[in-house]
Amino acid sequence: MNGKIPTLRTELHALCERIGRRVQFMEVCGTHTMSVFRNGIRALLPNNLRLVSGPGCPVCVTAQRYIDAALDIAGRSGVMVATYGDMMRVPGRSGSLERLRATGARIQVVNSARAALQMARVHPDCEVVFLAVGFETTAPATAATILEADRDGVENFSALICHKLVVPAMLALLETSDPDGPGLDGFLCPGHVSVIIGANAYQPIVERHAKPCVVAGFEADQILSGLVHLTRQLAQGRATLENVYSAVVSAEGNTVAQELVNRVFVVADTVWRQLGTIPQSGQELAPPYEHFDAVRRFEVVIGEDEDHAECRCGEMIQGKVQPWQCPLFGKECTPLSPIGPCMVSSEGTCAAWYKYERDLPDRSVSAVREVGW
Ligand code: SF4
Repeated sequence: MNGKIPTLRTELHALCERIGRRVQFMEVCGTHTMSVFRNGIRALLPNNLRLVSGPGCPVCVTAQRYIDAALDIAGRSGVMVATYGDMMRVPGRSGSLERLRATGARIQVVNSARAALQMARVHPDCEVVFLAVGFETTAPATAATILEADRDGVENFSALICHKLVVPAMLALLETSDPDGPGLDGFLCPGHVSVIIGANAYQPIVERHAKPCVVAGFEADQILSGLVHLTRQLAQGRATLENVYSAVVSAEGNTVAQELVNRVFVVADTVWRQLGTIPQSGQELAPPYEHFDAVRRFEVVIGEDEDHAECRCGEMIQGKVQPWQCPLFGKECTPLSPIGPCMVSSEGTCAAWYKYERDLPDRSVSAVREVGW
């Protein structure tokens, strides 16, 4: 065990005892979620402190209608679709990309936008469509690839844009939260996204909603340190922005990446999985680059979502429920047979619970804390 962890744990317990009420923090980022489970951090928390997952898993927040649009495009002749691997098994209304590929559709997993552009160069006889999902972390690579395709005149390349912005979603959560619900006492802000947008991007959350925000890294001691800083603020009656990941995250972020993104994209309203439209929380291609928009190029009609009636992914990414509260969890919905995106993604909350704590709530010490929260 990392030598700092016992000290941090002791401090966290002392602070929570001092606060003397239930405290609920949201870890916004899916990478934090997985690290919390992988490192057994939930078992180290005081009984009156709960961590809930937020809208920071890119696959989980992608609306079903986007998957349907991808399936529509991938089913056309003369088209190759390039996608990040996590998107392959997300169910749309008529199946998944993985199932469509099994019927012969040309769908290839790539690990970067640039690899998709390379596919277009290698297959000039095909239209290559890149599924551009993710937050501020992946948008700069998409932007750079669009610029490269434009510069080199690669005409058989386009992108289905579904990039999302984290801070508008966090603000929307606070503005629509149930006043009678357990509420959020603060945010463990995402490390990777913050590298791009900078720690200062969370200032509106502190200023408008008086919620503590702490930017933290992904190691167990870094997460515990973030929780100690959040809890200390509560204990002292403060709500400020702190950055305990300053070796990697600066106040202003990566301005080169921001300029790239601002050149290629404009901020727009967008639909989130089971959450509806959040104003100014997504990105569209700016007019000079609209010809790379796959929706326009293929005249795709974006439909409505028809999520499984019992899937609670929408509430999951708002921290309103935990996976064991979904009636399908571990029964109809498993990683082998996922019904919602939260069970598909390697950063999904349901996938994390299934992998690390699927026997809950009956047998785990940490689950005891969940029951009756
Ligand atoms: S367990 Fe499955 S169906 Fe239930 S919320 Fe999670 S992903 Fe959706």
